[in-house]
Amino acid sequence: MTQLSAVPTREPATPGSTREHLSSPVTSAVLTIQSRMLAATRSFLSQHGFTEVLLPILGPVTDPGARGAKQVDIDYYGHRYKLMTSAILYKQASLTMFDKIYCIAPNVRLEPLDTTVTSRHLAEFHQIDVEMAGASRDQVMRLVEDLVGYVTTKVLADVAEEFERLGRDIQTLAQLSAGPFGRRTHTDAVATLRELGHPQNPDGEIDWAGEAMLSRLESRPFFVTDYPKGSRGFYDRENPQRPGFLRNFDLIAAEGYGELCSGSEREHDYAAIIARMRETGENPAKYAWYLEMVREGIPASAGFGIGVERLTRYIAGLDAVWQACAYPKIPGVVAP
Ligand code: AMP
Ligand code: MG
Repeated sequence: MTQLSAVPTREPATPGSTREHLSSPVTSAVLTIQSRMLAATRSFLSQHGFTEVLLPILGPVTDPGARGAKQVDIDYYGHRYKLMTSAILYKQASLTMFDKIYCIAPNVRLEPLDTTVTSRHLAEFHQIDVEMAGASRDQVMRLVEDLVGYVTTKVLADVAEEFERLGRDIQTLAQLSAGPFGRRTHTDAVATLRELGHPQNPDGEIDWAGEAMLSRLESRPFFVTDYPKGSRGFYDRENPQRPGFLRNFDLIAAEGYGELCSGSEREHDYAAIIARMRETGENPAKYAWYLEMVREGIPASAGFGIGVERLTRYIAGLDAVWQACAYPKIPGVVAP
């Protein structure tokens, strides 16, 4: 990881007091970079015909596919509502309004306590959440490549002095816009991990340690595609040519920083969604508003979510993801 050597004091391993964190030169450099990243993201997506839609943070249901994290319930006028773990259901629904949408959306996930050692989990974070009607997986993977390349090039040009202050090696970052990222299947990634002696479950998500190992092997971000069905939520579309595997992908950063983005083609057919809900242990009755929309017809689509703090951490070369946040919520840690 990059040493924060160009700044007077090295950021501590935990945020310390709120005042200390907010007034640290590291925080100001990082959040300057993040602010330019968000401006570049909006400019790129707007140039590509995407409309920014502000999506709900509260709803009767939320994304159930959040890797062991607990959802947060709130009392909404006597009804049990959830804070959004992701905006996926609203993204699909919003395509009945515009063909290309995005949102910079806050998410709340009470991550399990074993994530405190990953350096890449927060209990509250944001996603650059994009969805495109009629798109294929390949189309949105190219969009991810172009977006990440554009944003990186733009911030390197706009605020070079902040990278210098952080001591971030910008040589590797400058290569991010130099052509497509590598692609490998989940099956292939599992085989690599097993050859390295890591006991990766072939039917599940790549575990935290496996993800970090794969990420450390590379000098550029790369895609992992075709995750097995049991590893993801009901909305990632199953491959009709390869039942049991999904038309989805993750983008994994290089240098050990791990997952940056997950995306997929989506299920949009009513019967397929009901079947997938049942297979994943979800009760369709809970999803009444969504299923009513699906029954009336939502477009086929593909989309993705890029973690804002994760992308900031990678671009700024930070030790931990909480450094990419003004008011970090580290899982299990009481914080403002
Ligand atoms: P997911 O739907 O779990 O794939 O989340 C989408 C993206 O959000 C991931 O690829 C990460 O970049 C980011 N993300 C997910 N969970 C967290 C977390 N607990 N803390 C920070 N970023 C996260
Ligand atoms: Mg993911």
